[in-house]
Amino acid sequence: MSIADVITAPLGGPSLPQERRLVTAIPGPRSQELLARKAAAVPAGVGHTVPIQAVAAGGGVVVDADGNSLIDLGSGIAVTSVGNAHPGVVAAVQAQAAQFTHTCFMISPYDSYVAVAEALNRLTPGDHEKRTALFNSGAEAVENAVKIARKYTGRPAVVAFDHGYHGRTNLTMALTAKAMPYKSGFGPFAGEIYRAPLSYPFRDGLSGADAAARAISMIEKQVGADNLAALVIEPIQGEGGFIVPADGFLPALVDWCRQNGVVFIADEVQTGFARTGEMFASDGFGIVPDLVTTAKGLAGGLPLAAVTGRAEIMDASHAGGLGGTYGGNPIACAAALAAIDAYEHEGLVERAREIGAILTARLEELQQTDPRVGDVRGRGAMVAVEFVDPATGAPDAALAAAVAKAAIAEGVILLTCGTYGNVIRFLPPLSIDDRLLSEGLDVLAASLAAV
Ligand SMILES: *Cc1c(COP(=O)(O)O)cnc(C)c1O
Repeated sequence: MSIADVITAPLGGPSLPQERRLVTAIPGPRSQELLARKAAAVPAGVGHTVPIQAVAAGGGVVVDADGNSLIDLGSGIAVTSVGNAHPGVVAAVQAQAAQFTHTCFMISPYDSYVAVAEALNRLTPGDHEKRTALFNSGAEAVENAVKIARKYTGRPAVVAFDHGYHGRTNLTMALTAKAMPYKSGFGPFAGEIYRAPLSYPFRDGLSGADAAARAISMIEKQVGADNLAALVIEPIQGEGGFIVPADGFLPALVDWCRQNGVVFIADEVQTGFARTGEMFASDGFGIVPDLVTTAKGLAGGLPLAAVTGRAEIMDASHAGGLGGTYGGNPIACAAALAAIDAYEHEGLVERAREIGAILTARLEELQQTDPRVGDVRGRGAMVAVEFVDPATGAPDAALAAAVAKAAIAEGVILLTCGTYGNVIRFLPPLSIDDRLLSEGLDVLAASLAAV
């Protein structure tokens, strides 16, 4: 695609026709052309889920170069929650890009970085004094949260959980549970990382208190609280399968951390910003983390990430110890301010709950008639179905993959996840309308019936 093609492509944003429209098979000829170039120019390790050439997106659709319009139930992995090419984000980006594109905040500070920090300090759980540092990606935020916790506590060890996902850098691969595709062959990994058992009600049947006691006992015996800087956990596991822990699990872990001087880090990179029907998933569990990492939904599609936390923990790092050349880029910060304004003033927390109600009702209906749907779970607009072999309850990854593939061929973007690969997750943009969402679910139901 030349720059002339880009200029003549349809504009994205909410004014795009909100429809599923297939004018070619997926992938169509222009998409195939790009995928052939991709195979020759980009390493095979960088995969793709939907074989199209995207040219515009907005509301609840992604449009490809062949003129197909697909229903978006993935938001680029929970990133474009405010809607793709959200008009406020676009305007903020255009205005900032015309003013200045970079100074490096560590050289010449600017307003928008501080304003994003102020907003995150205000919005994240707890009314204690907070500080925020900005970075470029979720993995970088998690790396920095661990750095900050180690410096504050003077302790080396970090505990992560079964099914956890925290990124693809060396430290965050070590924190991540699943070998394929995230870790296999990419070691050796960073040291002093330990893994504790999670609460996974569908598979372990434990109460939150019992699951927490199991994890705490393992941590005390195998790591020792005195050696432990931080516990890192996603309030709802994202890549691991949208696992919602049993009630009481997270509060018990927070209490134990407080009693033992361990920093509790909530990795809200996927769950943050209205997604779960709360501004942060931690709010829905009644917990106040010491540090919160955010990224995906933060800046309406621009790369921006943050660590927000207790002032005394955040301020323990020496001057010059934290940062990065691009961290808190001014265009990304302008986008974040516009996105945060949308979360707060366009009713997106409430909208996430409405979307969740539609998703859950429809998926539970499917569950009643189809024994392969083992579990329907989630909070707000972060919902998943776990597929099983009805006879044994064993995870059925082949079914999840076949359903997602069939739905994509019919023009619905669906993502899978889960340690066992047997989960389909729904992360629609919060700008999707009810009719399009229902049509996406019709296609899912038909795909499930057909495979
Ligand atoms: C996606 C994700 C990350 C990594 O974010 P990147 O921006 O891809 O580095 C970390 N933690 C969680 C919970 C995530 O979902």
